[in-house]
Parts: sequence; structure tokens; C-alpha cells
Amino acid sequence: MKPGTMPRGPLPRRITRRVTVGGVAIGGGAPVAIQSMTNTDTADVFATAMQCAELARAGSEIVRITVNTREAAAAVPQIRERLLALNLDVPLVGDFHFNGHKLLAEVPACAEALAKLRINPGNVGKGAKRDEQFAAIVEAACRYGKPVRIGVNWGSLDQQLLARIMDENSRRAEPKDAKGIMVEAMVASALESAAQAEALGLPGDAIVLSCKMSGVQDLIAVYRELAARCDYPLHLGLTEAGMGSKGIVASSAALAVLLQEGIGDTIRISLTPEPNGSRSKEVVVAQEILQTMGLRAFVPLVAACPGCGRTTSTTFQELAQDIQAYVREKMPEWQLARTGVETMTLAVMGCVVNGPGESKHASLGISLPGTGEEPVAPVYADGERITTLRGDNIAAEFRNIIDDYVARKYPARNAS
Ligand code: SF4
Repeated sequence: MKPGTMPRGPLPRRITRRVTVGGVAIGGGAPVAIQSMTNTDTADVFATAMQCAELARAGSEIVRITVNTREAAAAVPQIRERLLALNLDVPLVGDFHFNGHKLLAEVPACAEALAKLRINPGNVGKGAKRDEQFAAIVEAACRYGKPVRIGVNWGSLDQQLLARIMDENSRRAEPKDAKGIMVEAMVASALESAAQAEALGLPGDAIVLSCKMSGVQDLIAVYRELAARCDYPLHLGLTEAGMGSKGIVASSAALAVLLQEGIGDTIRISLTPEPNGSRSKEVVVAQEILQTMGLRAFVPLVAACPGCGRTTSTTFQELAQDIQAYVREKMPEWQLARTGVETMTLAVMGCVVNGPGESKHASLGISLPGTGEEPVAPVYADGERITTLRGDNIAAEFRNIIDDYVARKYPARNAS
């Protein structure tokens, strides 16, 4: 594509079938849905229900839980009940590996309580048992009317299938390299398993696919290939993304490229939490990826300058942090009462160089004084200067201005 012909926004979304998970639509033009996963012992009903609640309240639209033992399977209906008692009707997905066929047969209430089953085709069984056990899980999904995600992961790729693909490759006139083989095997595992599930009676609009890898370029390559070869909705995620900024950057880099190309119907950010860190960080990052790309809006975004030698104080950093935390805290209340608040933008700037300009571009902006400037902070609403703050109470006064703006600008939900 010539530089002058590059599209400014994302390419049109890839056309897919639509799968409904609980009340959440995936694919078929529905907004890209956000998923997360618990890290509690699922058999611990209280801890898992509380973490599901935390994730759901943070904005996770679907929550996946490990179902690895009979105790965990038995806990699933109780977790669901506890969430409903908290008025949280978030769809739960059961993550099955190795023994899913047995657990679903032994604990039917588990399948009933789940909104979707995740099958890893590399972990359903070996040899002759593989197809039998895969069929048992798919039949359970059909019996209980549940959709399935066929979730391939390169760390647990079906080794028989990989051997077959390598064998086929060795007979080619121009064999693919090791990376090419890996991509082909991942895609083949997903597509062949989906075809097998459909042959067993699972409707095509009850299947979501994923092919997670931990390398950014590998992930992009595998999803481009998968997207070109099927019309199932795709769940995106960089597996084992890692901790802190590395996990966030790697996930954002990979997912942004695919989302920009119209690929991806649901996402999960596989962040390793800091010790005692909040699990819901992965939900916040997923929201921020979608919102900063202009694909969805969840909570007002705060733009802040990085600071430089023109503002040696930390005042504007503290104000930016304070305002970001404030809008996140207030958003649930605003969302219930008002429409459109999530599209509001805020700017907190450090000096006169870019402060007034950036502030004028935001719904609401404040330009703090830099070193040597007069100690006043002009505030702008929709590009117009509306007031000037000064003194030690700027943060509280700016929060009040935000509240007034929300009340004035965004219609009440019950307004006709
Ligand atoms: S707005 Fe001012 S303080 Fe902020 S980075 Fe630019 S020049 Fe520095």
C-alpha cells in the first residue's frame, strides 16, 4: 500500500459467525469482548467467586476458571450461585485439560453452570483415546447447549499432529522452515478440531477458535493465517505475556496489529500479576488497548504530559494520578446515571508550552504552572477557558469541575 493510501482507522472487522456466551455476543460484528481468568483454586468457592466478582466489576465480560479436579467441577455451580447473589451474571468458562471428559460426565451440574467450555486439543488425550475423549467433551457441550472454544496453545500443541505436518513438509519440494511449520501445525490443530466438533454435531455458530503463542511475530502470523482460512470468531491473546511493562507491551504490540487488521472478536491479556498485585490489572489493560485504539470506550481517558525540565515539581504527576483514579472510581456510578461519560477525555498538563493546546483538545483540561510561571492553572472545557484555579486545593476543585461537567454534558439515563 502506498503511504498516501494508508487507511486512518482500523480495517473493517473480519466477517465471522456470531457465538453467544451467556448473554455476551462474540463475533458477527459484536464489539470485541473482554475476557479474563482467575488464578484461585476453583475448589475454593469463596476465593474463586470473589475473584470472579473482582474481575467482572473491573469490566471483564466473560471469566474463565480452571476445572481440573472433581472438587473444582463440583464448586462451579456454587461459584455461579454466589455471583448471581451478588447480582453479577458474568458468563463463566470452564478450562479443561486432560480429564475434562470425565469431569463433565461425573458432575453434570458443572456443565450446566458454565456458559462455555474451553478445550485444548493438545491436552485431551493421547493416541486412540484422543478422539474418544475429545468427542466426549463435545457431546457434553451439545447435550447442555454450550459453545466451545477450541484453544490451541503452542506450549501444548498436539504432538501427533505436529509429527504428521513435519512429515508432510519433508516431502515438499520447498519445505517450510521451523517457524512456518509451527504456524501451520497450530492452524491445522484448530481447524481440524473444529471440523471434528461440527461432525460430532456441535453447531458452527457454537465454536470460537484461538491459537495462542508467546512471540509477538509468531502470534500475528498464526492469526492472519487462521483468519484467512475460516469464519469462526477468534479469541486473541499472547500466551505467557509476562510481568509488568513487558507483558503489557508485548500483548499490546501483538493485539494492536491484529485488531487494526479487523482480526479478533474477544481478547484476554495474560499478565503475570506482581506478588499480591490485583488480578484485575489484565482487564484494565485489555480495556485500555481497545479504548486507545478507538474500538470501544469504557472509562474517560486522561492524557498527561511526561514532564520535563520546565516543571520540576511532581504536582502535575500527582494530579494526573489522582484524576485517573477518580474517574475509575466514579465510573460505575456515572455509568448507571448518565449516557456517554466513557467518551469524555481529560488532560492534565505540566506547563504553558503544550498545556493550553492539549487541554483545549480534551473535553476538560487543566494546564498547571511550570517552573517560573505564574502559579495559576487555567481550566478548559470543550476548548474554552472556563476558570483559573490557584492555591493548594486544585485537585479537589478540578474533581468538582469534572462532576459538574458530567452532570451538565451527559444526559441522565432515565431522560426521555
Ligand atoms: S507540557 Fe510543558 S512540562 Fe509537559 S512535557 Fe511539555 S514542555 Fe514539559
